[in-house]
Amino acid sequence: MSTKTSSLIEQTQKYGANNYHPLPIVIAKAEGVWVEDPEGNKYMDMLSAYSAVNQGHRHPKIIQALKDQADRVTLTSRAFHNDQLGPWYEKICKLTNKEMALPMNTGAEAVETAVKAARRWAYDVKGVAENQAEIIACIGNFHGRTMTAVSLSSEEEYKRGFGPMLPGIKLIPYGDLEALKEAITPNTAAFLIEPIQGEAGIVIPPEGFMKEAFDVCKDNNVLFIADEIQAGLARSGKMFACEWEDIEPDMYILGKALGGGVFPISCVVADHDVLGVFNPGSHGSTFGGNPMACAVSIASLDVLIDEKLADRSLELGEYFVGKLREIDNPIIKEIRGRGLFIGVELTEPARKYCEELKEESLLCKETHDTVIRFAPPLVISQEELDWAIERIKKVLS
Ligand code: PLP
Repeated sequence: MSTKTSSLIEQTQKYGANNYHPLPIVIAKAEGVWVEDPEGNKYMDMLSAYSAVNQGHRHPKIIQALKDQADRVTLTSRAFHNDQLGPWYEKICKLTNKEMALPMNTGAEAVETAVKAARRWAYDVKGVAENQAEIIACIGNFHGRTMTAVSLSSEEEYKRGFGPMLPGIKLIPYGDLEALKEAITPNTAAFLIEPIQGEAGIVIPPEGFMKEAFDVCKDNNVLFIADEIQAGLARSGKMFACEWEDIEPDMYILGKALGGGVFPISCVVADHDVLGVFNPGSHGSTFGGNPMACAVSIASLDVLIDEKLADRSLELGEYFVGKLREIDNPIIKEIRGRGLFIGVELTEPARKYCEELKEESLLCKETHDTVIRFAPPLVISQEELDWAIERIKKVLS
Protein backbone atom coordinates (compact mmCIF):
# COMPACT_ATOMS: atom_id res chain seq x y z
CA MET A 1 0.00 0.00 0.00
CA SER A 2 1.40 3.37 -0.96
CA THR A 3 1.48 5.81 1.92
CA LYS A 4 2.99 9.25 2.27
CA THR A 5 5.78 7.58 4.25
CA SER A 6 6.57 4.98 1.59
CA SER A 7 6.52 7.50 -1.27
CA LEU A 8 8.82 9.87 0.65
CA ILE A 9 11.26 7.05 1.38
CA GLU A 10 11.16 5.99 -2.27
CA GLN A 11 11.89 9.56 -3.41
CA THR A 12 14.75 9.85 -0.91
CA GLN A 13 16.27 6.59 -2.11
CA LYS A 14 15.85 7.49 -5.78
CA TYR A 15 17.56 10.88 -5.67
CA GLY A 16 19.76 10.75 -2.58
CA ALA A 17 23.34 9.50 -2.35
CA ASN A 18 23.32 6.24 -0.48
CA ASN A 19 25.46 7.30 2.49
CA TYR A 20 23.02 6.45 5.33
CA HIS A 21 20.93 3.45 6.33
CA PRO A 22 17.99 5.02 8.23
CA LEU A 23 15.17 3.15 9.89
CA PRO A 24 12.07 3.21 7.65
CA ILE A 25 10.34 6.10 9.36
CA VAL A 26 9.74 9.62 8.10
CA ILE A 27 9.53 12.34 10.72
CA ALA A 28 7.25 15.17 9.78
CA LYS A 29 6.72 16.88 13.14
CA ALA A 30 8.34 16.91 16.56
CA GLU A 31 7.95 18.38 20.02
CA GLY A 32 9.91 17.64 23.18
CA VAL A 33 10.69 13.91 23.20
CA TRP A 34 7.99 13.01 20.67
CA VAL A 35 8.06 12.85 16.88
CA GLU A 36 5.29 12.13 14.41
CA ASP A 37 5.22 10.56 10.94
CA PRO A 38 3.12 11.88 8.02
CA GLU A 39 0.33 9.45 8.91
CA GLY A 40 0.12 10.91 12.40
CA ASN A 41 1.75 7.99 14.27
CA LYS A 42 3.70 9.13 17.31
CA TYR A 43 7.08 7.84 18.41
CA MET A 44 9.39 8.60 21.29
CA ASP A 45 12.82 9.83 20.18
CA MET A 46 15.54 7.96 22.07
CA LEU A 47 18.41 9.20 19.90
CA SER A 48 18.08 13.01 20.04
CA ALA A 49 19.75 13.38 16.63
CA TYR A 50 22.97 11.93 18.07
CA SER A 51 22.72 14.28 21.08
CA ALA A 52 22.03 17.45 19.10
CA VAL A 53 18.55 17.73 20.59
CA ASN A 54 19.48 17.53 24.29
CA GLN A 55 17.06 20.41 24.98
CA GLY A 56 14.15 18.53 23.33
CA HIS A 57 12.67 19.09 19.89
CA ARG A 58 11.67 22.68 19.17
CA HIS A 59 12.21 24.00 22.68
CA PRO A 60 9.93 27.10 22.80
CA LYS A 61 12.67 29.42 24.09
CA ILE A 62 15.08 28.35 21.36
CA ILE A 63 12.43 28.61 18.64
CA GLN A 64 11.53 32.08 19.92
CA ALA A 65 15.18 33.14 19.69
CA LEU A 66 15.28 31.79 16.13
CA LYS A 67 12.13 33.68 15.12
CA ASP A 68 13.21 36.92 16.77
CA GLN A 69 16.58 36.78 15.08
CA ALA A 70 15.05 35.85 11.70
CA ASP A 71 13.10 39.10 11.89
CA ARG A 72 16.27 41.13 12.38
CA VAL A 73 19.35 39.82 10.52
CA THR A 74 20.43 36.30 9.55
CA LEU A 75 23.86 36.56 7.96
CA THR A 76 26.54 39.21 7.80
CA SER A 77 29.64 37.10 7.08
CA ARG A 78 32.65 37.97 9.16
CA ALA A 79 33.48 40.86 6.82
CA PHE A 80 31.43 42.86 9.33
CA HIS A 81 30.60 42.51 13.01
CA ASN A 82 27.16 41.37 14.12
CA ASP A 83 25.38 42.10 17.40
CA GLN A 84 25.00 38.43 18.48
CA LEU A 85 28.56 37.21 18.15
CA GLY A 86 30.05 39.21 21.04
CA PRO A 87 27.42 38.09 23.57
CA TRP A 88 27.79 34.49 22.36
CA TYR A 89 31.61 34.64 22.72
CA GLU A 90 31.29 35.85 26.28
CA LYS A 91 28.70 33.22 27.14
CA ILE A 92 30.64 30.22 25.79
CA CYS A 93 33.92 31.44 27.31
CA LYS A 94 32.37 31.92 30.76
CA LEU A 95 30.71 28.50 30.57
CA THR A 96 33.95 26.75 29.67
CA ASN A 97 36.21 28.97 31.78
CA LYS A 98 38.30 29.73 28.70
CA GLU A 99 39.51 32.99 27.19
CA MET A 100 38.65 32.65 23.50
CA ALA A 101 36.31 30.84 21.14
CA LEU A 102 36.17 30.27 17.41
CA PRO A 103 32.77 29.43 15.91
CA MET A 104 32.18 27.11 12.96
CA ASN A 105 29.07 25.25 11.83
CA THR A 106 29.40 21.47 12.00
CA GLY A 107 31.28 19.25 14.40
CA ALA A 108 33.75 18.05 11.78
CA GLU A 109 34.66 21.65 10.95
CA ALA A 110 35.35 22.33 14.60
CA VAL A 111 37.61 19.25 14.70
CA GLU A 112 39.44 20.62 11.64
CA THR A 113 39.82 23.91 13.48
CA ALA A 114 41.20 22.18 16.57
CA VAL A 115 43.77 20.24 14.54
CA LYS A 116 44.83 23.39 12.66
CA ALA A 117 45.17 25.29 15.93
CA ALA A 118 47.20 22.49 17.52
CA ARG A 119 49.54 22.24 14.56
CA ARG A 120 50.13 25.98 14.39
CA TRP A 121 50.61 26.09 18.16
CA ALA A 122 53.24 23.35 17.80
CA TYR A 123 55.20 25.43 15.27
CA ASP A 124 54.69 28.92 16.63
CA VAL A 125 54.71 28.27 20.38
CA LYS A 126 56.26 24.89 21.10
CA GLY A 127 58.97 25.20 18.44
CA VAL A 128 58.38 21.99 16.47
CA ALA A 129 60.22 21.96 13.12
CA GLU A 130 58.12 22.79 10.06
CA ASN A 131 55.70 20.07 8.90
CA GLN A 132 56.71 17.69 11.71
CA ALA A 133 53.78 18.17 14.11
CA GLU A 134 51.98 15.05 15.28
CA ILE A 135 48.50 14.50 16.68
CA ILE A 136 47.70 11.48 18.86
CA ALA A 137 44.13 10.17 18.76
CA CYS A 138 42.40 7.01 20.00
CA ILE A 139 41.38 3.80 18.29
CA GLY A 140 37.59 3.68 17.95
CA ASN A 141 37.29 7.47 17.79
CA PHE A 142 34.69 9.34 15.81
CA HIS A 143 35.53 12.93 14.96
CA GLY A 144 33.43 13.35 11.82
CA ARG A 145 33.68 12.77 8.08
CA THR A 146 36.02 15.39 6.62
CA MET A 147 39.47 14.32 5.42
CA THR A 148 41.13 15.26 8.71
CA ALA A 149 38.47 13.41 10.69
CA VAL A 150 38.65 10.24 8.59
CA SER A 151 42.44 10.40 8.68
CA LEU A 152 42.12 10.28 12.47
CA SER A 153 39.79 7.28 12.28
CA SER A 154 40.69 3.63 12.87
CA GLU A 155 37.66 2.43 10.86
CA GLU A 156 38.69 1.02 7.48
CA GLU A 157 35.27 1.67 5.93
CA TYR A 158 35.44 5.38 6.87
CA LYS A 159 38.72 5.67 4.94
CA ARG A 160 38.44 3.22 2.05
CA GLY A 161 38.81 4.91 -1.34
CA PHE A 162 39.48 8.34 0.15
CA GLY A 163 43.28 8.30 0.40
CA PRO A 164 45.84 9.69 0.70
CA MET A 165 45.18 10.34 4.37
CA LEU A 166 46.55 13.26 6.38
CA PRO A 167 50.05 12.53 7.72
CA GLY A 168 51.23 13.17 11.26
CA ILE A 169 48.60 11.10 13.06
CA LYS A 170 49.23 8.36 15.62
CA LEU A 171 46.58 6.15 17.18
CA ILE A 172 46.66 4.53 20.61
CA PRO A 173 44.16 2.16 22.27
CA TYR A 174 41.45 4.14 24.09
CA GLY A 175 42.34 4.31 27.77
CA ASP A 176 45.92 3.00 27.46
CA LEU A 177 48.19 5.35 29.40
CA GLU A 178 51.42 3.49 28.61
CA ALA A 179 50.62 3.65 24.89
CA LEU A 180 50.07 7.40 25.21
CA LYS A 181 53.43 7.86 26.94
CA GLU A 182 55.16 5.82 24.23
CA ALA A 183 53.44 7.69 21.40
CA ILE A 184 54.51 11.15 22.63
CA THR A 185 57.61 12.59 20.95
CA PRO A 186 59.05 16.12 20.98
CA ASN A 187 56.91 16.70 17.85
CA THR A 188 53.60 15.88 19.50
CA ALA A 189 51.24 18.84 19.27
CA ALA A 190 48.13 17.39 20.86
CA PHE A 191 46.29 14.43 22.27
CA LEU A 192 42.72 14.42 20.95
CA ILE A 193 40.14 12.38 22.84
CA GLU A 194 36.40 11.92 23.27
CA PRO A 195 35.89 11.76 27.06
CA ILE A 196 33.24 9.13 26.27
CA GLN A 197 33.35 7.50 22.84
CA GLY A 198 29.85 7.92 21.41
CA GLU A 199 29.83 6.30 17.98
CA ALA A 200 32.06 3.49 19.25
CA GLY A 201 29.12 2.45 21.43
CA ILE A 202 29.17 4.68 24.55
CA VAL A 203 32.61 3.53 25.66
CA ILE A 204 33.89 5.00 28.93
CA PRO A 205 37.66 5.09 29.54
CA PRO A 206 39.05 3.28 32.61
CA GLU A 207 38.65 5.34 35.77
CA GLY A 208 41.53 7.73 36.25
CA PHE A 209 42.74 7.55 32.65
CA MET A 210 41.59 10.99 31.62
CA LYS A 211 43.25 12.64 34.61
CA GLU A 212 46.49 10.71 34.18
CA ALA A 213 46.53 11.35 30.44
CA PHE A 214 46.00 15.05 31.12
CA ASP A 215 48.97 15.06 33.52
CA VAL A 216 51.17 13.22 31.00
CA CYS A 217 50.26 15.84 28.39
CA LYS A 218 51.11 18.66 30.80
CA ASP A 219 54.48 17.06 31.65
CA ASN A 220 55.31 16.85 27.93
CA ASN A 221 53.97 20.21 26.74
CA VAL A 222 51.27 18.50 24.69
CA LEU A 223 47.80 20.03 24.26
CA PHE A 224 44.93 17.99 25.68
CA ILE A 225 41.92 18.43 23.38
CA ALA A 226 38.51 17.10 24.38
CA ASP A 227 36.01 16.41 21.62
CA GLU A 228 32.83 16.98 23.61
CA ILE A 229 30.64 17.30 20.53
CA GLN A 230 28.48 14.33 21.52
CA ALA A 231 29.32 13.67 25.19
CA GLY A 232 29.27 17.32 26.28
CA LEU A 233 26.60 19.92 27.00
CA ALA A 234 24.79 18.00 29.76
CA ARG A 235 24.45 14.68 27.91
CA SER A 236 26.61 12.62 30.30
CA GLY A 237 25.14 14.07 33.49
CA LYS A 238 27.72 16.89 33.69
CA MET A 239 27.91 20.03 31.57
CA PHE A 240 31.17 18.62 30.17
CA ALA A 241 32.12 14.95 30.27
CA CYS A 242 35.68 15.97 31.32
CA GLU A 243 34.17 16.97 34.67
CA TRP A 244 33.83 13.26 35.49
CA GLU A 245 37.58 13.36 36.17
CA ASP A 246 37.79 16.99 37.21
CA ILE A 247 39.89 18.09 34.29
CA GLU A 248 39.81 21.24 32.25
CA PRO A 249 41.21 20.38 28.83
CA ASP A 250 43.35 22.88 26.96
CA MET A 251 40.71 22.96 24.26
CA TYR A 252 37.06 21.96 24.07
CA ILE A 253 35.46 21.05 20.77
CA LEU A 254 31.69 21.58 20.93
CA GLY A 255 28.83 21.17 18.49
CA LYS A 256 25.48 19.42 18.21
CA ALA A 257 23.44 20.63 21.25
CA LEU A 258 25.29 23.97 21.06
CA GLY A 259 22.56 24.87 18.56
CA GLY A 260 19.75 23.08 20.40
CA GLY A 261 18.98 20.96 17.34
CA VAL A 262 17.62 24.12 15.74
CA PHE A 263 20.58 25.68 13.95
CA PRO A 264 24.05 24.27 13.24
CA ILE A 265 26.85 25.80 15.28
CA SER A 266 30.10 24.34 16.54
CA CYS A 267 33.22 25.81 18.06
CA VAL A 268 36.56 25.37 19.69
CA VAL A 269 37.27 27.12 22.98
CA ALA A 270 40.70 27.60 24.54
CA ASP A 271 42.99 30.19 26.11
CA HIS A 272 44.91 32.97 24.31
CA ASP A 273 48.16 31.02 24.28
CA VAL A 274 46.52 28.39 22.05
CA LEU A 275 43.75 30.04 19.99
CA GLY A 276 45.84 33.20 19.73
CA VAL A 277 47.78 31.44 16.95
CA PHE A 278 45.06 32.36 14.46
CA ASN A 279 45.29 35.70 12.70
CA PRO A 280 43.13 37.25 9.97
CA GLY A 281 43.48 35.14 6.85
CA SER A 282 44.49 31.93 8.61
CA HIS A 283 41.05 30.38 9.14
CA GLY A 284 37.36 31.13 8.75
CA SER A 285 33.92 30.24 7.49
CA THR A 286 31.25 32.26 5.67
CA PHE A 287 28.59 31.04 8.07
CA GLY A 288 30.76 30.68 11.20
CA GLY A 289 29.54 33.04 13.92
CA ASN A 290 26.43 34.09 12.01
CA PRO A 291 23.82 35.95 14.07
CA MET A 292 21.13 33.26 13.69
CA ALA A 293 23.45 30.57 15.02
CA CYS A 294 24.68 32.79 17.85
CA ALA A 295 21.19 33.86 18.96
CA VAL A 296 19.97 30.26 18.88
CA SER A 297 23.08 29.04 20.69
CA ILE A 298 22.71 31.60 23.49
CA ALA A 299 19.13 30.39 24.04
CA SER A 300 20.23 26.75 23.80
CA LEU A 301 22.88 27.23 26.48
CA ASP A 302 20.39 29.14 28.67
CA VAL A 303 17.99 26.19 28.48
CA LEU A 304 20.72 23.71 29.47
CA ILE A 305 21.66 25.88 32.45
CA ASP A 306 18.23 27.16 33.56
CA GLU A 307 16.55 23.76 33.35
CA LYS A 308 19.52 22.06 35.05
CA LEU A 309 19.60 19.47 32.30
CA ALA A 310 22.95 18.04 33.41
CA ASP A 311 21.55 17.19 36.86
CA ARG A 312 18.42 15.83 35.25
CA SER A 313 20.47 13.62 32.94
CA LEU A 314 22.48 12.29 35.87
CA GLU A 315 19.44 11.49 37.99
CA LEU A 316 17.26 10.00 35.26
CA GLY A 317 20.24 8.15 33.77
CA GLU A 318 20.80 6.29 37.02
CA TYR A 319 17.12 5.45 37.21
CA PHE A 320 17.03 4.27 33.60
CA VAL A 321 20.16 2.10 33.87
CA GLY A 322 18.73 0.56 37.06
CA LYS A 323 15.60 -0.44 35.18
CA LEU A 324 17.55 -1.74 32.19
CA ARG A 325 19.61 -3.95 34.52
CA GLU A 326 16.40 -5.67 35.63
CA ILE A 327 16.11 -7.22 32.16
CA ASP A 328 17.33 -10.78 32.41
CA ASN A 329 18.41 -11.95 28.98
CA PRO A 330 21.75 -13.56 28.03
CA ILE A 331 21.87 -11.56 24.77
CA ILE A 332 22.65 -8.49 26.89
CA LYS A 333 26.42 -8.44 27.21
CA GLU A 334 26.88 -5.10 28.94
CA ILE A 335 24.95 -2.00 29.95
CA ARG A 336 27.11 1.09 30.31
CA GLY A 337 26.63 4.79 30.39
CA ARG A 338 26.79 8.08 32.16
CA GLY A 339 23.66 10.12 32.61
CA LEU A 340 21.21 9.59 29.79
CA PHE A 341 24.04 8.50 27.50
CA ILE A 342 23.60 4.77 27.58
CA GLY A 343 24.78 1.84 25.49
CA VAL A 344 23.32 -1.65 25.69
CA GLU A 345 25.76 -4.05 24.10
CA LEU A 346 24.26 -7.26 22.75
CA THR A 347 25.87 -10.52 21.77
CA GLU A 348 24.29 -10.18 18.33
CA PRO A 349 23.50 -7.40 15.82
CA ALA A 350 21.30 -4.70 17.34
CA ARG A 351 19.53 -3.56 14.15
CA LYS A 352 16.70 -6.11 14.48
CA TYR A 353 15.95 -4.90 18.01
CA CYS A 354 15.93 -1.26 16.90
CA GLU A 355 13.42 -2.22 14.20
CA GLU A 356 11.28 -4.02 16.79
CA LEU A 357 11.48 -1.04 19.14
CA LYS A 358 10.29 1.14 16.29
CA GLU A 359 7.24 -1.09 15.97
CA GLU A 360 6.70 -0.32 19.68
CA SER A 361 6.87 3.42 18.88
CA LEU A 362 10.36 3.90 20.26
CA LEU A 363 13.12 5.28 18.05
CA CYS A 364 16.71 4.30 18.70
CA LYS A 365 19.62 3.40 16.49
CA GLU A 366 22.24 0.71 16.59
CA THR A 367 25.84 1.83 16.72
CA HIS A 368 28.76 -0.38 15.81
CA ASP A 369 26.50 -3.30 14.99
CA THR A 370 25.88 -4.71 18.43
CA VAL A 371 25.13 -1.68 20.60
CA ILE A 372 21.76 0.03 21.07
CA ARG A 373 22.29 3.64 22.07
CA PHE A 374 19.68 5.18 24.37
CA ALA A 375 20.06 8.96 24.47
CA PRO A 376 16.65 10.62 24.80
CA PRO A 377 16.23 14.40 24.95
CA LEU A 378 17.20 15.46 28.48
CA VAL A 379 13.83 17.11 29.05
CA ILE A 380 12.25 13.64 29.23
CA SER A 381 10.10 13.00 32.31
CA GLN A 382 10.31 9.95 34.56
CA GLU A 383 6.83 8.89 33.39
CA GLU A 384 7.99 9.02 29.79
CA LEU A 385 11.05 6.95 30.71
CA ASP A 386 8.77 4.39 32.37
CA TRP A 387 6.75 4.26 29.15
CA ALA A 388 9.97 3.55 27.25
CA ILE A 389 11.22 0.97 29.73
CA GLU A 390 8.00 -1.03 29.42
CA ARG A 391 8.56 -1.31 25.67
CA ILE A 392 12.28 -2.00 25.92
CA LYS A 393 11.56 -4.80 28.41
CA LYS A 394 9.03 -6.29 26.01
CA VAL A 395 11.48 -6.29 23.09
CA LEU A 396 14.64 -7.30 24.98
CA SER A 397 13.16 -9.86 27.36
N1 PLP B 1 32.91 14.43 17.04
C1 PLP B 1 32.09 13.62 17.70
C2 PLP B 1 32.49 13.09 19.04
C3 PLP B 1 30.85 13.26 17.16
O1 PLP B 1 30.05 12.43 17.82
C4 PLP B 1 30.50 13.79 15.89
C5 PLP B 1 29.21 13.42 15.27
O2 PLP B 1 28.59 12.42 15.58
C6 PLP B 1 31.38 14.64 15.24
C7 PLP B 1 32.59 14.94 15.84
C8 PLP B 1 31.05 15.22 13.88
O3 PLP B 1 30.06 16.17 13.98
P1 PLP B 1 29.23 16.61 12.66
O4 PLP B 1 28.43 15.41 12.24
O5 PLP B 1 28.38 17.74 13.11
O6 PLP B 1 30.24 17.00 11.65
